[in-house]
Amino acid sequence: MSTADVVVLGAGIVGASCAYHLAARGRRVVVLERRDGPAQGSTGRSNACVRAQWTDPTNIALSWGGIQAYRDFEARHGVDVGYRPFGYLLLVPEHRWDDHLRAMELQRSMGVPVSAVTVAEAGERIPLTPTGLAGATWCPADGGVDPHLATTAYLGMARQHGARVLARSPAVTIEHRGDRWAVRTPDAVVEATAVVNATGGWAGEVAGLAGLTVPVHHSRRMIFASAPVPDRSRVPMTIDLTTGFFIRGENGRLLMGYGGSHEPPVYNDSLDWDWLERVMLAGIDRFPWLGDLPMDRAASWAGTYEVTPDHLPFVGAMPGAEGWFNACGFSGHGVMQAPMAGLLVAEEVVDGRAHTIDIDTLRIERLCQLPGQPPGQPRAGAAELVF
Ligand SMILES: Cc1cc2nc3c(=O)[nH]c(=O)nc-3n(C[C@H](O)[C@H](O)[C@H](O)COP(=O)(O)OP(=O)(O)OC[C@H]3O[C@@H](n4cnc5c(N)ncnc54)[C@H](O)[C@@H]3O)c2cc1C
Repeated sequence: MSTADVVVLGAGIVGASCAYHLAARGRRVVVLERRDGPAQGSTGRSNACVRAQWTDPTNIALSWGGIQAYRDFEARHGVDVGYRPFGYLLLVPEHRWDDHLRAMELQRSMGVPVSAVTVAEAGERIPLTPTGLAGATWCPADGGVDPHLATTAYLGMARQHGARVLARSPAVTIEHRGDRWAVRTPDAVVEATAVVNATGGWAGEVAGLAGLTVPVHHSRRMIFASAPVPDRSRVPMTIDLTTGFFIRGENGRLLMGYGGSHEPPVYNDSLDWDWLERVMLAGIDRFPWLGDLPMDRAASWAGTYEVTPDHLPFVGAMPGAEGWFNACGFSGHGVMQAPMAGLLVAEEVVDGRAHTIDIDTLRIERLCQLPGQPPGQPRAGAAELVF
């Protein structure tokens, strides 16, 4: 039996950031991780990209805040987490151009250095067929980071502030006893006044241990790698908004993907090579040279997104479950949003309410209502909430 102020469940990038920000605010933190070490869930299978080009203020704030945190990490904390601003190029079809320009203005008003470029200028960054495109937007601060380095950096800094990180320690039961939570692992019981559920795609299952409902499910995603093609490897992260096909250079190869397969919502990190045909069909009209690209199965991989019903994360206190905090369901954007997630969760726990940005659109109440009550009237008793 041990005690802490906060138990953080999950040592992916989100749990690691939460642990650091809470420990830095003086909370005694214990991190419980089911696997052998950190970043072994979705975090270790990410495409590792970060972008501030979103259409809504909350996602822009979360992701742009994350990019700036990664950009400044070494200067602030003395650790290089592999931030590389290779840029995002979004190829925009004619019917989305006006909306896209409005989103770009919103991003710029929030400090994001994004600009519109012509299709011809986009074609200088990646050879493409211009059919149906109105233009493109380019943000040179978007790019990539090393999720393993970031996760271990956050955990290392949390430890320096006194946190304990326990691997091979799955939460197997969770009870609310008076004003404390008791989290049991096969080897120990940790009691704390607060629990942070940062278990990614397992967050629903873990919340269920405490009788709570958190609608997050796994959704498999695959990244296909080319064989080494040094002449093309400087391609920025490029998304064709006509189809959703994306491609980028990495270490002398091209990495690409497209959407998610419709299959049972369970954890599945096996690669379905047949899916490559769907990916190529989505990309080949825009990038006909894909047809000659040699692919490398051994360098390709799969993992799962941790998806919520509206693809926004759950961040903040759980209604009706005093001391329970959600930090989960980042729906495929947890790497770029983890720095802000940790900051906001620490504010929510320590200050009683997140204040760096308004997180009302991220609170779980946005999706729930009690049986028989009109929407927008959430209430205590999270287990009863209807989604
Ligand atoms: C192919 C792919 C590409 C992606 N590309 C990007 C990208 O470019 N940019 C981006 O931002 N995001 C991307 N993502 C998404 C990103 O990886 C996730 O959003 C992020 O890693 C979520 O982090 P997390 O800490 O919430 O979850 P995870 O990393 O899954 O961590 C959750 C942890 O909880 C642990 N756990 C589970 N159950 C228990 C339990 N009972 N007790 C204790 N611990 C438990 C798990 O073992 C795991 O380590 C991608 C994901 C995939 C699969």
